[in-house]
Amino acid sequence: MDFSILVDAFEEMEQTSSRLALTDHLVSLLRKTPTNIIDRVVYLIQGKLYPDYEGIELGLAQKLAIQAISLPTGVDINTIEEVYRKTGDLGDTAAEIMKSKGQTTLFAEKITVERVYLTLDKIARLSGKRSQEAKLRLVGSLLSDATARESRYIMKFIMGTLRLGIGDYTVLDALALAFTGNKSNKYTLEVAYNVSSDLGTVAKLLATSGIGSVTKIRITLYKPVRPMLAERVRTPEEAMERMLKDKSAGAEFKLDGERVQIHKGKDRVDLFSRRLEKITAHYPDVSDVVQKLVEANEIILEGEVVAINAQTDEYLPFQELMHRRRKYGIKEAVEEYPVVINLFDVLYFNGEDKTSLTYLQRRKLIEQITAGLKNQKVRVVSQCIVKNIKDIEKFMASAIEHGCEGVMIKQLASTYRAGAREFAWVKLKREYKSDIADTLDLVIVGALYGRGRRVGKYGALLVAVYDSKADMFRSVSKVGTGFTDLHLEQLYKSLEETRVSHKHPRVNAGMQMDVWFEPEIVIEVSASEITLSPSHTAGMNSIREKYGLALRFPKFTGKVRIDKKPEDATTVEELISMYKRQMKAIKVEETKKHQ
Ligand code: ATP
Repeated sequence: MDFSILVDAFEEMEQTSSRLALTDHLVSLLRKTPTNIIDRVVYLIQGKLYPDYEGIELGLAQKLAIQAISLPTGVDINTIEEVYRKTGDLGDTAAEIMKSKGQTTLFAEKITVERVYLTLDKIARLSGKRSQEAKLRLVGSLLSDATARESRYIMKFIMGTLRLGIGDYTVLDALALAFTGNKSNKYTLEVAYNVSSDLGTVAKLLATSGIGSVTKIRITLYKPVRPMLAERVRTPEEAMERMLKDKSAGAEFKLDGERVQIHKGKDRVDLFSRRLEKITAHYPDVSDVVQKLVEANEIILEGEVVAINAQTDEYLPFQELMHRRRKYGIKEAVEEYPVVINLFDVLYFNGEDKTSLTYLQRRKLIEQITAGLKNQKVRVVSQCIVKNIKDIEKFMASAIEHGCEGVMIKQLASTYRAGAREFAWVKLKREYKSDIADTLDLVIVGALYGRGRRVGKYGALLVAVYDSKADMFRSVSKVGTGFTDLHLEQLYKSLEETRVSHKHPRVNAGMQMDVWFEPEIVIEVSASEITLSPSHTAGMNSIREKYGLALRFPKFTGKVRIDKKPEDATTVEELISMYKRQMKAIKVEETKKHQ
């Protein structure tokens, strides 16, 4: 397939600010794509070469990329750097330089998607001393055959700056429409995606063998399963109510760390984050102990990695784990910031999918597998069976005493449902300083420039909740407090990388902002109340005609949720149910007052 077809589609997608139009462009691109490369096109659409869990990055240093533009064009490095300073993007720089040089040679080879993909793949896989030179030659030769428009996207792929912001669910919608003509088939595709985390494979199976074959995708070792999630409850009473007719439930400590999915084979352990990225390199100590101590040929476990104080063995807060998120100096970080892994689930064991076992059966299996373990680095999360509210309160007190953020309560008969957030698991957190029951995880979609002390940074951030039905982000608040100077500086830097020229097509907001961002960065925000709002679009018309929902006294908690994708942010449904629960609580208070 000619690369120019992809370029045409990408240009159209960049221009649109409508989610529907974005999907339409995607559908027509997918229909045009030969089935043998559809997986590759699906990865490229999201600016990737492989699914995230492969953990392979393109990695071309900026200096080298500038040399690569210089090579085929003959334009000197200084001139290229000057253009780069103006455009701020090496894709745009390459296009501008190529344009100023006129079209490429008459005999240039036509560039195909296959060729671009294979070259990028080679670049990603090259390593070692000589690799830089080889990478330079590869990019140079691709650019020498490319048009200005093509070179723009080639460089964007290489530098990781393609900002189409097409989420997984938009791709699933488009795949369902393109190959079955029926959008509701996206649910079948989603199930397959939940267990494989690989949109490319799902797309290829669908395009070559039809929707029936997609249902046959199974849990596989080294491919992360999308995690099962919990609903929030406010009180032990509500937790018990949610356990349905069961007279008892499993209560576990809710630890404040990073969720990790552990895939152990005969001679390799891989760790995956909540957002399905390979994070094995951050926790070599965890992989080591699991490899040595967990007796299973093949197993997929879930647990929470938590930082601890090596002297006192006390749990430390989530932020401590950030020290492990580095490329270099891991050995030192392992010693300086020790962690333990607390196992709470098992999804696969020696060739068998265990997700259809009940919670009780899975818990028993973990206990069997880890029975001989005396190692303090691998633990099974503290658990007890609760039969009434008193039991929950007692367990909660013990959890808090042990430095946990609360408890998880799980239905004894529940199976493991990949990717689902439902009441089979509920989380009950300790009292927050804010008045609403929980903090919210919100996506930054826009910003206003700062004034006074904040000149040169952002003064307020526009944040949004996720509407999973429409795969859109709807504004819920402007947040301007809770930021330290360091936060502001760091956020400014990361936000710069997600900046787009106009409101992103997946963002729904009625406000004017100074800058807009691709929905990518998730931050934790507390608030005193959820109120009706004529200006924010989250939950629009759901409570009152022409009103959405907004946060009163929103405050950044200091936590950037790097473990969450934008689609993992608080959803519109959650916001609405938090609002309803808050109103119910206020009513109860008022009746009490009047009695
Ligand atoms: P929160 O924002 O409340 O930390 P979340 O939005 O990250 O939660 P939820 O599914 O709502 O995700 O809450 C469950 C999370 O709590 C899990 O993803 C996991 O990281 C963590 N956790 C800690 N202890 C447990 C446990 N015993 N069982 C399951 N999850 C646990």
